[in-house]
Amino acid sequence: MAQTRIAPPPARAEGQWALDEREPLNANERFKLEDDGLAVRARIEDVYSRDGFASIPADDLRGRMRWWGLYTQRRPGIDGGRTATLEPHELDDEYFMLRVRSDGGALSAAQLRTIAQVSVEFGRGTADLTDRQNIQLHWVRIEDVPQIWQRLEAVGLSTQEACGDTPRVILGSPVAGVAADEIIDGTPALEHIARRYIGDPAYSNLPRKFKTAISGSPHQDVAHEINDVSFVGVVHPELGPGFDVWVGGGLSTNPRLAVRLGAFATLEQVPEVWKGVIGIFRDYGYRRLRTRARLKFLVADWGPQVFRDVLEQEYLGFSLADGPAPPPPPLGRRDHVGVHPQADGRFYVGAAPVVGRVSGPLLAQVAELVEAAGSDRVRLTVEQKLVVLDVPATNVDALADGLEALGLAVRNASTFRRGTMACTGLEYCKLAIVETKARARELVFQLEERLPTFDAPLTVNLNGCPNSCARIQVADIGLKGALAGGEDGYQVHLGGGLGLTSGLGTTLRGLRVSAHDLPDYVERVARRFDEQRQDGELFAT
Ligand code: SF4
Repeated sequence: MAQTRIAPPPARAEGQWALDEREPLNANERFKLEDDGLAVRARIEDVYSRDGFASIPADDLRGRMRWWGLYTQRRPGIDGGRTATLEPHELDDEYFMLRVRSDGGALSAAQLRTIAQVSVEFGRGTADLTDRQNIQLHWVRIEDVPQIWQRLEAVGLSTQEACGDTPRVILGSPVAGVAADEIIDGTPALEHIARRYIGDPAYSNLPRKFKTAISGSPHQDVAHEINDVSFVGVVHPELGPGFDVWVGGGLSTNPRLAVRLGAFATLEQVPEVWKGVIGIFRDYGYRRLRTRARLKFLVADWGPQVFRDVLEQEYLGFSLADGPAPPPPPLGRRDHVGVHPQADGRFYVGAAPVVGRVSGPLLAQVAELVEAAGSDRVRLTVEQKLVVLDVPATNVDALADGLEALGLAVRNASTFRRGTMACTGLEYCKLAIVETKARARELVFQLEERLPTFDAPLTVNLNGCPNSCARIQVADIGLKGALAGGEDGYQVHLGGGLGLTSGLGTTLRGLRVSAHDLPDYVERVARRFDEQRQDGELFAT
């Protein structure tokens, strides 16, 4: 870090390392200072996997294990009404959720098959596609974790920094390098960052999680507005294709959309700019209160111009070119579901599971289909979907038929199957108040039956608590889990969006829909939208 600092001092001490506020400030900062999160791996391999769950101390169990993608699951049978009243150890099950990192959502057939085998052998066959291009398994025992790592790492996969106060999985366009209309392929920058910086102790103690998105697609297909740092494909009038730099997005209980720095980064500059932004977060990020520890709070206080000045003068040592804003994305869906031509004459085929829920056996069958179709590349999407790349024309129908036979909709996926997402919810998540996955699945089936011809784009996102793992504030219909008179219910947010309709939805205060009434409510809203919409009009416009 440079010596001369230009960043304005905050109104009160926020626990910023760059201002020498290094005292242990809260429980998380204390355990991170005592021992780096990454160091827990040796103890898992040498002690906990041998001596079992009871041998894991609290700081590792509920803290550092996350640095290796492990969260304790919610103990079965505890209803949502007790989430806030029980002690953490009362909510813990002796099993773990394991998040497998896949930067850019990129998986080979062999990697997919390995995840499938791990799921079947060690995770009771469970698997969920997340809206951050990861795959999560459940029911993992600590005794099996070293063997799981061996299996995953043998095929180039990792769980390192899949969770924790670290640089999380890097989102990338699922069709990077193949889409016919691509502005620029961000893959080299994404791979450089993942190779060079993931697992680097210089960035393994951040104030909180740090989320990255890189896409050179004109469809802006990585939810760049809600990441800590995003690189969005644009064409500079003199410098050619490159990236517009955005910072400070994030949802949860204090949602903020990212802001542009007005700066242009070439493909070669992206890793350096990324390193500068994460450096600012590490050094200037707020560590006093965990609720203010995301980059968005710093960006809100500094504003984009100060942030850019600090980035250029204290971290990069050079000025970035001013750059244009990305044009609005084209009208239409950007979930990559269906059959689409690639630039090289082959096709990519996008498939929609219901609310991201798949299974180990199903993933193994998908891997077989991928190879039979002459492909070796699968991509996960930020909509809980998957895409098979590089399919020769002659193999498209067989692949699509095969995926559809597995229940993964390809050619005639309904709006509701494409546009509905759900977080983990009460089934496994210790923070959850209500059930989400099964309910969202039932909602999709109900809506497909009730509105069989509905074909307007519409997103319906369900969260199990006020956190926003399923992005409720940027959905057309966002449903936030909340108890209503002891019953499962959902607080309604309407009119949020990303891309063309980027904005945070409006909370309809006092409107809480019970779980029982959910299909009727969403059907009513969808019908009214369909009846009143003009040509091409979107829900949020
Ligand atoms: Fe858990 Fe809440 Fe996130 Fe859902 S939104 S996965 S319930 S923390």
